[in-house]
Amino acid sequence: MPVKRSDKTPMPVHDAQLRAHDFVEVNTGYTPAHAAFEAERCLRCQDAACVDGCPVNIPIPDFIHAVAAGDMPKAAQILRGANPLPSICGRVCPQENQCEAQCHMLKRFNPVAIGHLERFVADWERTQPVTAKPNITRKEKIAVIGAGPSGLVCAGELARLGYSVTVYEALHAPGGVLRYGIPEFRLPKSVLDWEIGVLKAMGVEIVCNVVIGRTIKMDDLFENMGYAAVFIGTGAGLPQFLGIPGENLNGVMSANEFLTRMNLMGGYKFPENDTPMKVGKRVAVIGAGNTAMDAVRSSLRLGAEAAYIVYRRSEKEMGARVEEYHHAIEEGVDFRWLTNPLEVVDDGNGWVSGLKCQKMKLGEPDASGRARPIPIEGSEFVLPVDNVVLAIGTTPNPLLTRTTSGLMTNKKGCLVADESTGLTSKALVFAGGDAVTGAATVILAAGAGKRSAQAIHEALQQAPVAAH
Ligand code: FAD
Ligand code: SF4
Repeated sequence: MPVKRSDKTPMPVHDAQLRAHDFVEVNTGYTPAHAAFEAERCLRCQDAACVDGCPVNIPIPDFIHAVAAGDMPKAAQILRGANPLPSICGRVCPQENQCEAQCHMLKRFNPVAIGHLERFVADWERTQPVTAKPNITRKEKIAVIGAGPSGLVCAGELARLGYSVTVYEALHAPGGVLRYGIPEFRLPKSVLDWEIGVLKAMGVEIVCNVVIGRTIKMDDLFENMGYAAVFIGTGAGLPQFLGIPGENLNGVMSANEFLTRMNLMGGYKFPENDTPMKVGKRVAVIGAGNTAMDAVRSSLRLGAEAAYIVYRRSEKEMGARVEEYHHAIEEGVDFRWLTNPLEVVDDGNGWVSGLKCQKMKLGEPDASGRARPIPIEGSEFVLPVDNVVLAIGTTPNPLLTRTTSGLMTNKKGCLVADESTGLTSKALVFAGGDAVTGAATVILAAGAGKRSAQAIHEALQQAPVAAH
């Protein structure tokens, strides 16, 4: 417990030495005493800037006040009314750039730990019986493509509005990145399963192993299957590569493949699960976003003795959440800042033996607004490694747009959709989340799904018969 009210109540954590070798959740959660203490730090400001900082405008002082008053049912109700995935967002949202960055306490002290309190309330809610039940009052059926946060939230909101909703998911289990990308030690699957259980209790049907565009064509959803509207939440799951020599060697993987094998296919429990994870003694992960941090920390847990982050810019420009970065340092990740990969080195038998790199310095900001990395001549060196994992970004998979006429995309392959409704260039087809924005965050995807559900409801009230 903190001694001063100026400090944020620290999140209790699983020991760093132990956790670097297991998959137990790192953050263990506030106790009721921690939560009560932290909730009392909130000033309950009239002009609660934290609310503006939250992409879905959770009434933050209200739910925190309910925690302080010990009224957990009220806190949970306020929270869930604004954010349909509180137990997930309480764990993975980058609060330091959102609500907590705006908190008035920051003027003199640490901000209120809004994210930790959100998680505390949502975890309490998960100990209560699920009371949700189906409420189908409307005749129109809606199809949702993709069971990531945008699709799941859209489906939940539509079910709440009385629609019959079916979610089609390409993989064998729902959750999107929450299932195949974010590891167990950050987001236990039991938490995701509970949230999905609530949706199912509301009557949302989830059909897995269906690739829309292949198994079923998008237009068939309207013409042959009787859906009145469609929401596309297919994410941005196509990994990018560097195009450097040696990228095809054995031992090089995209972070998507690495994390999918481990999380979705349960490779972290090999041989109990039969997906092998071939991780050598030294692993280099290229990139410094959340995906890179998940991959590098997973490498240690899978047995690597040295796990490196190789990033051509500096710590200041990294995209990862600050908490994950600190946890990675505590677990022993070796950060190689200002280091640009030039080539993956062959051991002579088609396997990786090293990563040839060049040191960089930072120049003026480039088109992305971040300092431009400039190579330092003569600074090349080889980092001896057995695996290279690429975590340099993803784009939307073009499968659906290529097999569907009339869906406009931009230069980056993202669907073109109205910002406030998600309406695409095709009538009664809406879209949101990473498929529209490119790789972003869970809360932005969830917010988009929620807005589109409302827009679908309004569109169907205006034109109850599908005009497709
Ligand atoms: P996704 O979560 O990608 O879900 C899309 C779903 O659609 C997938 O299940 C996919 O299989 C399915 N699909 C695709 N095409 C089809 C098709 N044709 N037919 C049927 N189904 C289809 N954000 C944070 O806020 N905090 C974090 O800490 C964080 N960590 C991350 C860590 C990793 C490793 C990654 C990869 C991302 C992370 N993000 C994080 C980003 C966040 O997870 C995404 O922004 C978010 O999941 C996007 O949600 P979505 O619903 O748009 O898409
Ligand atoms: Fe509480 Fe900070 Fe929001 Fe003010 S800005 S209401 S102190 S969380």
